[in-house]
Amino acid sequence: MIEKINHIAIAVRSLEEHIPFYRDVLNLEFRCTEVVEDQKVRLAVFRVGETQIELLEPTAADSPILAFIEKRGEGMHHISYQVDDIEKQIAELKAKQVRMIDQSPRSGAHGSRIAFLHPQSSAKVLSELTQEVDR
Ligand code: ZN
Repeated sequence: MIEKINHIAIAVRSLEEHIPFYRDVLNLEFRCTEVVEDQKVRLAVFRVGETQIELLEPTAADSPILAFIEKRGEGMHHISYQVDDIEKQIAELKAKQVRMIDQSPRSGAHGSRIAFLHPQSSAKVLSELTQEVDR
């Protein structure tokens, strides 16, 4: 079951350049920065009520985030839906003929488990499932 928006992710070239807008201009609660090795990104997390804004900065020349920025420029990268059971959600989507980028969960930020859907099903918005670790 999809419970809520877990986070909205924005691709940027430099966290240091963009953190001040979200932290000091919008006055969002800055939570942390974190490196997610698996995705070759460093992220900055801001809390907005029950959801989060994540800025994604590439950490390697072969980071998929760098490829995204070079193709489309900085901007919105994906929406993440929080689910209670990621294996079950993936199976349900596959049963409904949704094309998945990730056929099984992989590790995301702060110990979460994630899986990306192919954007062809969702009006070209890259969509992610996130199951938080404390479940
Ligand atoms: Zn995400």
